[in-house]
Amino acid sequence: MEFRGLKAQYQNLKTQIDSAISRVCSEAAFISGTEVGELEKQLATYVGARHCITCGNGTDALVLALMAWGIGSGDAVFVPDFTFFASGEAPAFLGAVPVFVDVEKDTFNISVNALEEAVIYTINNTNLIPKVIIAVDLFGQPADYPGIREIADKYNLLVLEDAAQGFGGAIGNKMACSFGDISTTSFFPAKPLGCYGDGGAVFTDNDNWAEIIRSLCVHGKGSSKYDNVRIGMNSRLDTIQAAILRIKFKAFTGYELESVNNIAKRYTDLLGSKGQVITPEIKSGYYSSWAQYTVICKNSGHREKIESVLKKHGIPSMVYYTKGLHGQYAFSGSISGGWDFKNTDYLVQRVLSLPVHPYLEEEDINKISCIINNIQVLKGETI
Ligand SMILES: *Cc1c(COP(=O)(O)O)cnc(C)c1O
Repeated sequence: MEFRGLKAQYQNLKTQIDSAISRVCSEAAFISGTEVGELEKQLATYVGARHCITCGNGTDALVLALMAWGIGSGDAVFVPDFTFFASGEAPAFLGAVPVFVDVEKDTFNISVNALEEAVIYTINNTNLIPKVIIAVDLFGQPADYPGIREIADKYNLLVLEDAAQGFGGAIGNKMACSFGDISTTSFFPAKPLGCYGDGGAVFTDNDNWAEIIRSLCVHGKGSSKYDNVRIGMNSRLDTIQAAILRIKFKAFTGYELESVNNIAKRYTDLLGSKGQVITPEIKSGYYSSWAQYTVICKNSGHREKIESVLKKHGIPSMVYYTKGLHGQYAFSGSISGGWDFKNTDYLVQRVLSLPVHPYLEEEDINKISCIINNIQVLKGETI
C-alpha cells in the first residue's frame, strides 16, 4: 500500500504526463519556457492572488519572501514550533532569529495566544525587532488567519503564510496561499500539489514585492539576466516540472481534492467513534487539502504498537514530527522566553500519519481503520 499514492496517480495521468514531458524535450526550452508563465497565471487565479512567482522549492520560496522584506540580523520572526524544519530554517538562514511558538493541540497550527505572549516577551526582553509571523497550514488545514491578522495589526508585523502543505485549503471561500502578505507553497512530490522533483511558488498581491522576488529568483536581475541590481539566487521552476504541474493541477482541482476530502471523512467516520485514537479536527468553515491525515494516539507506547501492527499488515505510517523546532540542535542558539511548548511536546509523543491520497481504495481505508480500532493492548505493554 502506498502512503501518498504517487504511483497510482502516475498510472492515472501517464499518457498526458509522458506527452507533456516529451513536448518540452522536443521544444528544448528547459528553463522559463511558456509552460511556466501559463502555470503561474493559472495558480494565481486559483488562489486569488495578483502574482504567482514560481521558484526552485518551498524553502527558497520562504527565503525569497523574507529577502523581499529585507529580513535579517536583529529581526525576530515568529514560527510555530510544530512544523517542518524549513519554516524556521528560512529566517535563520538570513540571520534573523526564529522565535518558536507553541501550537494548538486540535488543529496542530500556531496558537494565537502563545503568539501574542511571544511577541510581548520579545519586545520587553530582547533587542530584537519583531517583524514577521510565519504561519504554517500544517497537514493541509489553514492556520487561524483571522486571529493571526489581529496580532499582526496590533504589533505591526507582516504575515508570511507557509502553505507548503496547505495548497487547496480554504477558509470560507478564501483560498490558502492568499492569507499572507506573501504566501508560499512547495511542489515537492508528496505535497498536495506535487511535481516530479523540487519546485515551489510565491504568491502576493503587492506589485513591488512581486517585482523584487522575480528579480531575486534570477540572480537579482535588473532589465535583463546580465544586468544585476541586487544579490539574489538561482531559484527557478524547470519547464518540465511546470508542464507536469499543469496536468496535475487539472486533476487536483477536477477531482483529487474532493476525493481526498471524502477519504479523510471516511477515516474519521470509522475511527472517530471507537475512541482508540483522536481523529484530526477541521474547524468550522475551514477546508483542508489533507497533506497528511494525522491521528493522536494515547501515548508513545500506544503509537509504537499501532505502527508495528500496521507494518505487519504491510501498511505504511509516518510520524510527523518527532520533535519540536525548539528541540532541534541546529536551533540551539535561538531565544526562548522560558514559556513552555506543552502542546508540541504532547503531540510529538502521540501523532501518527496514516496513508492518505486521492487514489486510496475504500477497502484499504476500511482495513486500516479496522486494524486500529481492534488493537489490543496486552498486559505489561506500556500504555
Ligand atoms: C515541505 C515544506 C517546506 C519546504 O518545501 P521544500 O519544497 O521541500 O523546500 C516548508 N514548509 C513546510 C511546512 C513544509 O512542509
